[in-house]
Formats: sequence, structure tokens, C-alpha cells
Amino acid sequence: MIIRSMASTKSKPFFELNNSGRTSVRQGTLNFAAQSVKTPTFMPVGTRGAVKGLTSELVSSTGAKIVLGNTYHLHNSPGETAVAKMGGLRAMSHWPGPMLSDSGGFQVFSLAKISKINDEGVEFVLPSSGDKLFLTPEKSIQIQHKLGADIIMAFDDVVSLDKLSRPRTLEAMERTHHWLNRSIAEHKRLLEQQTTSYQPQTSFPKLFGIVQGGVDKKLRKKSLEFVQSTEVDGIAIGGLAVGETRQEMNHMLDYLQLQLDPDRPHYLMGVGHPIDMRYAIEHGMDMFDCVLPTRNARHGSYWFLADGRDHQSNIKTKKYENDFLPLEEGCDCYTCRGGYQRAYLRHLIRQGETLGGSLLSIHNIRYLMRIVENYQA
Ligand SMILES: [Zn+2]
Repeated sequence: MIIRSMASTKSKPFFELNNSGRTSVRQGTLNFAAQSVKTPTFMPVGTRGAVKGLTSELVSSTGAKIVLGNTYHLHNSPGETAVAKMGGLRAMSHWPGPMLSDSGGFQVFSLAKISKINDEGVEFVLPSSGDKLFLTPEKSIQIQHKLGADIIMAFDDVVSLDKLSRPRTLEAMERTHHWLNRSIAEHKRLLEQQTTSYQPQTSFPKLFGIVQGGVDKKLRKKSLEFVQSTEVDGIAIGGLAVGETRQEMNHMLDYLQLQLDPDRPHYLMGVGHPIDMRYAIEHGMDMFDCVLPTRNARHGSYWFLADGRDHQSNIKTKKYENDFLPLEEGCDCYTCRGGYQRAYLRHLIRQGETLGGSLLSIHNIRYLMRIVENYQA
């Protein structure tokens, strides 16, 4: 963005590609004010300002470098003003690295009861309080600036890919494009305000645009071209992993790969299954986020590598009752390295002890971090 050069002419570019695309796997670096992050990378989801059940030190122990916060949830509680008073998302959650906030769009469309949607924005009812809220692209960007994330997302219209919703895909894509222009304008306005009170340590958020279009190649191409014609700092692929088959998602990634702008980071939203991540990394994707490792963990499910392949098992299974090995032999995570036995973890999960979910979450996030680290330079 224009403001970036006004802020500091000496700073490194936000994204650097280190292996110049010699293979389809991209090895890059995201440069933030305080630190750099190697890509490909996985970003654990800290929905309400916390990765469920984990301190920031424990999240850090997995090798994760960027944590995501959900605008919708943080706006509901404690509210962006309260977050700002606590010093912003990073200071509030004691997270030493960069953070990414989503736009709130996905949660509005998946969790809230929508009472009205038009080109202006979305009116919905908060499930917790019953209050009516109206979210617009401008409002979403304002909230995200206030939360203080390092990467923020343009507000988009999200549709499910089930058969009933597919006719709405075109409308949603066109609306997402209008909303991207408005998100960019609001982002610029807020950056200019920030620049007038510029301090050297000021961190300027980067804005990513979201490509929509469901599983329709024509729409995806149109959407990608539109997003890439704007000056956003990163390209996000949204609206995948929301009900289509793995094959449909992979076909779309194959299709988009060669059309993606190589100079900007590519973020595949909401994808965090090991098999999907490996495929996407090998098809030009750089960044991922997903609740899967932590949500699965709370239900006793964990990943392990055997015979060079990803496997999933549930610790609640009876066969682990007298199994005193760590979750995955050879894993260097806090849980496995610490010698926590399968029989003990099984007991914790079965009894609903939250420590069980925390210990499995650490392993599952580390599992995904091991995957991305294997691809990094
Ligand atoms: Zn482990």
C-alpha cells in the first residue's frame, strides 16, 4: 500500500520469496516491524484472544509464529475498545509475535442469525445478547485497526458450498469485490491518520483481500483477477473447505496456482488438515489457519506420522488404557517430550479435564508446525 513507503523507506518488503519459485513449493519470509516469519506457515486460531486452553508460552513452544484472533468474537466481548485499553491484541494476550485478525464475515454468516443483507452491509442478531448489529466493510476495518492486529482481512460475503447456497455464489462474489474497494479505502484513511502521529515503533497493519467464487472456475478467475488488480498486501483464498469435497478443493488449487501473483503471500483460509496442507503447500500456498488441531484435541483426536503418512487416532479408545508411551514417539512437542503417557491423556480426556485438551492441542499444533517447517528454507 502507498502508506507503506511513506512510513519507512528503509524497511524490508513485507513479503520476500526466497526460492524464486524453482519448485511449486514457495519458501518465503513475511517481514513485520518486530520480527520475520518464514513461510509456509500455520497460524493457530486464538478465537477470543486465546488459543483455547494454552498460554502464549505454550503456543510459542509449538513453533507457531503468528496467531489469529476472531473479530466477530472479540467485538462481542470484550469489545475492541476494551482490547485497545489493554494495549491491543498482542499485549492483551501476551503474544510476542505478529497477529492476524479475520474480518468477522465468516462468523456472521456461520454463527449469527442474519436479519438483513444488502450491498451496504449485514444486519444480524448476536446469539449471546439478542442485540442487533450492523457490520459493514468500514466497520470491520475500524474494529480490526483498533484490535491492533498486524494482518487484517477485507470484509467478505461468505456462502456455504452446499447445493442450496450455490446460486448465491455470484452475488456473494460481486458483493465481496465492492466491499474490498470499501475495505481498502477505509484502511488507507486509517493508515493516513496513523501516519500523522507516526512513531518509529508504530506497526502498520497489512491488508489482505479475499478471493471468492465457490467451486466455479470462471468466478474464481474473475475474483482472483479483481483482488490482484488492487494494491492489497496479500491474497487470501476464502470460501474453500466449507462443504465441498477434497477433490473439488484440490482442483481449484491446481487451477489457481499459475494465476496467483508470485510477489504477494498466498493465504488459504480455514485449511489445517495435514493432507490438505501438504497438497496446498505443494500448489503454491504460503499461509494457513484452522481450528482443527485444537478442536480435535479437545475431543481426544490427535495426528501422528507412520510409514511416511498422516494418521489420526482418538486417545479415548480402549486400546490406550494400558499404553504408557507418549502420543507420538519421536515427536519433539512439549507433551510428547515431557513424557505424558497415552493412558494418562486418555484418562484426562475421558474425565473432561481441560488439561487433556491443552496437552493434545500442543501436540496437534506442533504436528502441523513440523509439516510447514519441513518445507521452509
Ligand atoms: Zn507430540
